[in-house]
Amino acid sequence: MLAMNFRGPFRVRLDRDKPLPEIKHPEDAIVRVLRSCICGSDLHLYHGLVPDTRVGMTFGHEFIGEVVEIGSEVKNLKTGDKVMVPFNIACGKCVFCRQELYGNCHESNPQATAVGGIFGYSHTAGGYDGGQAEYVRVPYADVGPTIIPEWMDPDDAVLLTDVVPTGYQAAEMGGIQPGDTVVVFGAGPIGIMAAKCSWLFGAGRVIVIDHLDYRLEFVRNYAQCEAYNFKEMNDPVVFIKTTTDSLGADVCIDAVGAEAAGSAAQTLTGRKMLLQGGSTTALHWAINSVKKGGIVSIVGVYGPIDSLVPIGNVVNKGITIRGNQASVKRLLPRLIEHVKSGVLNPKEIITHRIPLEEVAEGYHIFSAKRDNCIKPVLIP
Ligand code: NAD
Ligand code: ZN
Repeated sequence: MLAMNFRGPFRVRLDRDKPLPEIKHPEDAIVRVLRSCICGSDLHLYHGLVPDTRVGMTFGHEFIGEVVEIGSEVKNLKTGDKVMVPFNIACGKCVFCRQELYGNCHESNPQATAVGGIFGYSHTAGGYDGGQAEYVRVPYADVGPTIIPEWMDPDDAVLLTDVVPTGYQAAEMGGIQPGDTVVVFGAGPIGIMAAKCSWLFGAGRVIVIDHLDYRLEFVRNYAQCEAYNFKEMNDPVVFIKTTTDSLGADVCIDAVGAEAAGSAAQTLTGRKMLLQGGSTTALHWAINSVKKGGIVSIVGVYGPIDSLVPIGNVVNKGITIRGNQASVKRLLPRLIEHVKSGVLNPKEIITHRIPLEEVAEGYHIFSAKRDNCIKPVLIP
């Protein structure tokens, strides 16, 4: 089958004869992929920032598809079902899954202390192949996969596997109170969705910070919020303080992650990257510009090298820092309702539809933020 194939940092190609995935466990299903996105998280793999990302691996944790085969113990699915598959691989039974912490499942990634299994996300996330391929093996098929409602557009469905729940959970973890000022760092798909969802929690003001004007323009319209270019400011922290009566924001959301840790990334990969954060990360800005007693919600993904936290300010300001992998399955029922009612229109963020054969070009465009790219979708 056709599949994306990782060759090393900044090198991705199309594999034309990857063996078809097989049922390995009675709870598995095989899914024929209908849509599969490239995510900002894939860029961390592509940039060589995630340990134990092995040559030959197929990425892709945001996909929908048709069930073509099921293991003998699968009860909730049948062949022909069209499903959206959460990016977390979750057993549904362990101590964490029982608390709906599906992003922290113990069984799907027993070696790791933090993260559960994730499709196509290196051996630190379980070593599972992902959905940037024609077919994919889906473990614990009765737990994550969710039938796509008849009325739902597949473009909306594929964004419910990660982008929407992650943006929503970013806002939820921020503990937004009615009238709060929320600052979102990053105007990628995740930051855009976090800004949009902040209103659902009663925010009074939403401000997004990035340096890409086309994304700022997009989020201004899509999420009806303020949006500013940090390159046009002397200091984003001073800017935020000034615009909040010197108090700071009630909630800051980091939707950037490792991308801003530019120097560390360069050291690791030995390559010059398109990074603008320098040694000052979005996380610094979030901690330093949230008000005393405020909450910093982190959904940006960091690797082990990114321990650049201004911890003194965390303590002195009495800040709460929260973070997690989104618990997609927990959030899907309410998010499906928000799509149905029209409150959320996820598919509007899709800017590029790319045949799977051109996956390498897809990575180039998204990594370089070329052609006003916000969200690319691969079509097998
Ligand atoms: P993206 O690369 O498209 O967007 C990142 C944005 O951050 C870009 O627009 C970039 O210009 C901007 N940026 C860079 N440095 C900045 C800075 N210092 N301040 C403000 N903005 C800055 O990626 P995405 O798909 O939107 O994902 C964003 C982050 O969320 C990534 O780290 C990704 O790994 C993470 N993520 C987490 C989860 C989760 O469950 N926790 C799920 C999906 C994605
Ligand atoms: Zn993703």
